[in-house]
Amino acid sequence: MDELSAFYRDPYLCRLETQVIASGRDERGVWVELADTIFYPEGGGQPADRGTISGVPVVDVQKGPHGVRHYLQGEPPSPLVTLELDWERRFDHMQQHTGQHLLSAIAEDRFGWRTTAFHLGAELCDVELNVPSLRPQELAELEAHVAEEIRAARPVKVHYVEPEEVAGLPKLRSRGLPEGHKGKVRLVAIEGVDLATCGGTHLRSTSEIETLALLATEPMRGGTRVYFVAGARLRHRLHSHEARTAQLRKILGAADLELTTVAQAKLAELSELGKQLRRVQEELACLLGEKLAADPQTVTVFHREDAELAFLQRVARAFLEAKPHGVLLATGGREGQGSFVLAANRPDLRELGELVAHELEGRGGGSGHMYQGKAAHLWQREQVRKRLEEIVGR
Ligand SMILES: [Zn+2]
Repeated sequence: MDELSAFYRDPYLCRLETQVIASGRDERGVWVELADTIFYPEGGGQPADRGTISGVPVVDVQKGPHGVRHYLQGEPPSPLVTLELDWERRFDHMQQHTGQHLLSAIAEDRFGWRTTAFHLGAELCDVELNVPSLRPQELAELEAHVAEEIRAARPVKVHYVEPEEVAGLPKLRSRGLPEGHKGKVRLVAIEGVDLATCGGTHLRSTSEIETLALLATEPMRGGTRVYFVAGARLRHRLHSHEARTAQLRKILGAADLELTTVAQAKLAELSELGKQLRRVQEELACLLGEKLAADPQTVTVFHREDAELAFLQRVARAFLEAKPHGVLLATGGREGQGSFVLAANRPDLRELGELVAHELEGRGGGSGHMYQGKAAHLWQREQVRKRLEEIVGR
């Protein structure tokens, strides 16, 4: 029976000696059932515990048809076993989960925003409140009320009632009992603040939540999803924010309050430089095209390692404008990942382009006076020029 398991009798118990009473294997892996357990099985929005059973890592814990199944990373240990709980993980879950009880109770009682869903994620938690939107000021007030109840160190207690007593309980927060529920109903009370049906593990006092911060909101199914973190998670999150800010201070050479302004200015500068660069490239391409047009050869070859296809096309356009009867093979990039443009005002351009693509071990396409594509073997371009001269010079 769940309500007799050690994780319910004492959610602070981290070590337990017990017996394996059944074992097997299903689609999730190798499992054992135990005479008693400190491992909470996934349920009610609270993730499953981790830890070890006689040194063998527990990778998942789920409710099975007859009891709690502990999924193991190795072979099941001998009948007498010692369970050790990953306490840091469990305590984190208890902080987020108890924090959610408090948050939902205050949101509903004092603001009229009912909780319709709760998620306890690996990074963030959230509740969905039945309010279309929340202003920053409203969030700040909600957070302040939660902080006040954390400081009040209100005891959190669990008790059980008969199912028929549930209907008569005033101000009970409940999303209804699970289908097929049998036996007593588990109630979790935050003294003076909340009474809810719940099957999770909880802290002894709201003071152990430490702190709870509302981080962001987003519209969700007509309501509002509110992201939050509580307890040690908030401290860890703050530390990683601090480390990131310190890096940004170093990179941008600015104080905290100036970081956004400096970053925006740098991005604007970058965007302006990009525009300038494109203008200079345009001019360079035109000058190069005109210069190449002075080449006396029948087929002119041009290569530039840092040139992209668009640049080559601009060079080719300028070339043809200055030398309408010329033929230009322009290549760019490095061996293995190059591109090429063949430019000529000729009816057989497509065949010539296919020849180039074939010789350079690439592929391409084109029409009008330009054929372009990707090429693997740029080093063969001199040989290609000779082939083109043979054809064009006829
Ligand atoms: Zn709960």
